[in-house]
Order: sequence, then structure tokens, then C-alpha cells
Amino acid sequence: MGPFEYFEPLSVKEAVSLLNKYGNKAKVLAGGTDLVSLLKDKTLSPEYVISIGKLTDLDYIKSDGKKGLRIGAMTTIRSIETSKHLKPINCVILCQAASQMASMSIRNVGTLAGNLCNASPSADMAPALLVLGASVKLVSASGERTLTLDEFFVGPGSTAIKPNELLTEIQIPVPPPHTGGSYIKYVTRGGEELALIGVAALLTIGADGVCSAARIALGAVAPTPVRATKTEKLLTGKKIDDTLVKKAAQTASDEASPIDDIRGSAEYRREMLKVFTRDAIKQAAEMAKSAA
Ligand SMILES: Cc1cc2nc3c(=O)[nH]c(=O)nc-3n(C[C@H](O)[C@H](O)[C@H](O)COP(=O)(O)OP(=O)(O)OC[C@H]3O[C@@H](n4cnc5c(N)ncnc54)[C@H](O)[C@@H]3O)c2cc1C
Repeated sequence: MGPFEYFEPLSVKEAVSLLNKYGNKAKVLAGGTDLVSLLKDKTLSPEYVISIGKLTDLDYIKSDGKKGLRIGAMTTIRSIETSKHLKPINCVILCQAASQMASMSIRNVGTLAGNLCNASPSADMAPALLVLGASVKLVSASGERTLTLDEFFVGPGSTAIKPNELLTEIQIPVPPPHTGGSYIKYVTRGGEELALIGVAALLTIGADGVCSAARIALGAVAPTPVRATKTEKLLTGKKIDDTLVKKAAQTASDEASPIDDIRGSAEYRREMLKVFTRDAIKQAAEMAKSAA
């Protein structure tokens, strides 16, 4: 690994000042669960590594009515998994996604921002955040901007973040009442495997049984985690029954663009996507009915 110059800024201001100076030749280090192996095998050889491990003020989960849910960049996956804030505001899908990611030891150090910035098509937190309509706050020496997650993911391993920017916060509008969500991760061998398929569904269902809002997002079946917008349109404004769910599962499979890789063929992914989309929609519908 290396050689590189190593910095440990003590504030966001200091971190973005370093990124302003060295951004093009630097990598940000958060929990290091993705980055360190890339440094070790020399896939990446930055001249500067800027650790944000000491920015403990970016480790928070806050929710208030108007601003919604805000999660600091340094919040670990384990903190999200065990957070008590998320269930009462119909965001338990985040705990569910976090609990399916990697091993406990990885979840204890891996951060939410790191999972997004790494931009793996199979990143487990991405589909759940996409259905929740999350945005990311990016801070640089010249100011800040906010991007929706749809805008943030650009391609496999690639995001819209600029070399001089730091992701500081993930912002999530609180879902309306009677909203339920489910994330299903499909792995074939278990353990710490990455998702072969990830499906997140978030549905709002009124007392009349009609689905007033539907969001579906898919992981590992396109170059980036993506919303399945045709599937969402199909579900919205209708009662969720078996016939509709079957159609929705087929639509999601049709709008995915999986590839063949060592973990599975595109054809197999398309077939299994139908199964897991069906299950995710059914689970989300059940949760919506019992949600406050
Ligand atoms: C054994 C193993 C199993 C794994 N299993 C899974 C799995 O099942 N599912 C899954 O989704 N992932 C998995 N991962 C990947 C990884 O653990 C997660 O992506 C994790 O959330 C990354 O967070 P981190 O803090 O460790 O990021 P780091 O490794 O520190 O950083 C990752 C990338 O994000 C950038 N970055 C980090 N924070 C910021 C920031 N605030 N602003 C700008 N850029 C930033 C870094 O420069 C780097 O490019 C696994 C990894 C390992 C080693």
C-alpha cells in the first residue's frame, strides 16, 4: 500500500479545505472497508488519503417533522440497523437493509456515506434509500449542494461527487402515514456475499386498500441501483392483489438490465427478480396496512 500522505482533519471545514487543495490526487477514507483493499492491491494509488474518522460530529441519526430524517455521513451501518428512531417514522426498511449487509464486524465500521460513494450496483443501502426519496448533501470549500440519489449514481463505481466535495449528510423525507417498506437481498451462498439481486418496495395504502404511492428500487440488475418507474406507475392508484403483483413483478424484470457475471447470468437474475419483486411488494403492502 502507498506511499501516500495521510491527513486526519478534525472538522468538515478542514476536510474540505484539504480536498480543495488535493482533491484530484486524494481519496477520502471513512470506515475503510471498501477503500483499504483497493489501496492494498494498488487498484488505487492516491497521493493523499484524507481520513474523516475523527469527524465524529458526522455520526448522527436525527429526525424532526419538518426537516425529515437526517443521517450523518459517518453513521455506521450497525447504528442504522439498531436505531430506535426509524420504526416510528415508517423508515424501518433502512434497519432491514442494514441488517442484511455483510458481517457484524463490517457493519460496525462501514459507513452509510461510504456505501453510497463506493457506488457498487449491489450496494445494499441504495435501494432502500432510493425508495425513501433520499438526497445527499455535498460540501466543498465554495459551498454546498444537494443531489437526489437518482442524480448521484452515475455508473458502476461512479458518482456525481466532485473530487473537492465531501458527502456530509443523507436526507430523507419522512414517509406519509400508512407506509410500509421491505428490502429483500438475494444471495446464493450466504455469508458476506454481495447481493445477486436487491429489491426495495415502499407502498402507501389507504383505508380503502388503494395504493396511493409506490416506489420500487432494484439493486445489482443495472449499472447503478435504479428506480423501477414503470412498475411504480402500474401499482399506483390500484388495489394490491395477486394479479397486479404478478404483473408488477414481470414489469420490474422487463425494465431491469442485468448482466452475466461470476455470481449469476442475466437470464437467471431476470427470473429471480420476478420472485423477489413479488415478495417485496407483498411484504411492503402488509407493513403499510399495519403502519401508523
Ligand atoms: C468482506 C466485505 C463484505 C462486504 N459486504 C457488503 C454487502 O453485503 N453489501 C454492501 O452493500 N457492501 C458490502 N461491502 C462493502 C462495504 O463494506 C460498504 O460499502 C461500506 O458501507 C463502505 O463504507 P466505508 O465507511 O467502509 O467506506 P470506505 O471504504 O472508507 O470508502 C468507500 C468509498 O467512499 C468514499 N467515501 C467514503 N465516505 C465519503 C464521504 N463522506 N464523502 C466522500 N467520499 C466518501 C471513499 O473515498 C471510497 O471511495 C463489503 C465489504 C467487505 C470488505
